[in-house]
Amino acid sequence: MFDIKNLDITGALVLLDSGEITSVGLTQALIDLIKAEDSKYNAYLTLDEEYALAQAAGADAKRAAGETGKLLGIPVAIKDVLNVEGQVCTCGSKILEGYVSPYDATAIAKLRAAGAIFLGRTNMDEFAMGSTTENSAFQVTKNPCNTDYVPGGSSGGSAAAVGAGLAIAALGTDTGGSIRQPACFCGCVGLKPSYGRVSRFGLTAYCSSFDQAGPMTKTVKDAALLLEVMAGVDEYDASSAPVDVPEYTKHLTGDLTGMTIGIPKEYFIDGIDPEVSRTVKAAIDKCAELGAEIKDISLPLTDYAIATYYIIATAEASTNLARFDGVRYGARAEGATDPIDLYKKTKAAGFGEEVKRRIILGTYVLSSGYYDAYYGSAQKARTLIMQEFDKAFEDCDAMITPISPVPGYKIGENENDPLKMYLGDIFTVTANLAGICGLSVPYGKKDDLSIGVQILGPAFKEENILKIGDALERK
Ligand code: GLN
Repeated sequence: MFDIKNLDITGALVLLDSGEITSVGLTQALIDLIKAEDSKYNAYLTLDEEYALAQAAGADAKRAAGETGKLLGIPVAIKDVLNVEGQVCTCGSKILEGYVSPYDATAIAKLRAAGAIFLGRTNMDEFAMGSTTENSAFQVTKNPCNTDYVPGGSSGGSAAAVGAGLAIAALGTDTGGSIRQPACFCGCVGLKPSYGRVSRFGLTAYCSSFDQAGPMTKTVKDAALLLEVMAGVDEYDASSAPVDVPEYTKHLTGDLTGMTIGIPKEYFIDGIDPEVSRTVKAAIDKCAELGAEIKDISLPLTDYAIATYYIIATAEASTNLARFDGVRYGARAEGATDPIDLYKKTKAAGFGEEVKRRIILGTYVLSSGYYDAYYGSAQKARTLIMQEFDKAFEDCDAMITPISPVPGYKIGENENDPLKMYLGDIFTVTANLAGICGLSVPYGKKDDLSIGVQILGPAFKEENILKIGDALERK
């Protein structure tokens, strides 16, 4: 019998190829485990048993017929913001309750073509707005490391599922840290690809110029494997980049000789939990031991990152969410007297508090009297931050930093303090502003809580950060 909780993609493929297990057996075992244990964590919003088992039977038949696929027969959990044809996709919002996707997101279609199975949808902050998954309209997800704590967010359901062993691997999305920070809190690996690396077609938009889908896995190798499958230019997304996709798994050698790693001093500010600092320091020392050159660098514009991010993110959110009006998607309010009344009633009932706050903020920063002062200035600041990273990467192949100033938040701790919550994103939003890639790898602990380190790399150099992350994982 296999140890399903600790099974990763690489291990599952070995068992499937050798015939020790079937995909149906694997999928059924996972479904049983989720049913038995997910009530402790609330990681999943929906399970699609019949569909998953039918897909698994199809994968077994293909394998028996000698067909291959990089993910043939592997069940993957999907954040409820990515469209999977025929499955409900709520984005954690009442306004999309019961909405069934008529098509696959491109990232999903690519996984499907490689043989992956979509067994369920994971909880998230409503429309990916948040850092704790407490903004979900449906349920509070708990951190498997300690269930008094949040799993992080917004991809908290995917992180908790992988961290608890209730998923072999999952997909999340990252607009300002939503893959990396929950991965850090739940003790799994999370990869935010460079902007344009993975098609956004079928990823319900929060902030289109930051959003990226990426893997959340048990190992760096699995993240590399999933990215290989998901990445690439797509005719349906003009912002996807026509850049070759390397075979990332081939770069995982464990040897960091010849690499230079920058340590930006602005990421080591007062107020960081000492255990977080110690963990990051230990990872840096390990990289030096493995042959990397460590270099102190400076990114002085880091101070402006949170303000810049929250202006641009809310501005784009306010326009992106305008489409949820009760006419085209999901829920529609009863008893409206005219179209404007219908919009008002549907949005008032359908959106949660945080989403409304951001729509209002975004509408304000885009309004004619304030556009130049807020949105225009934020775009200028973003360009400067991007240039600052480009310049810094002339002297290093990657950077190592903390992910979150603290190892976790208790459930309810930040309920009435959105600003404090926003400030916790300080180390993750810069990668989205600059369009670069970032990886979160578990490297330490504070009591039960897991602590990860962040490895940032230049745009389209995911191989650099995966190589470092894998080397650290080998410890
Ligand atoms: N916590 C950040 C926010 O609320 C990031 C969210 C995300 O990456 N989706 O905007």
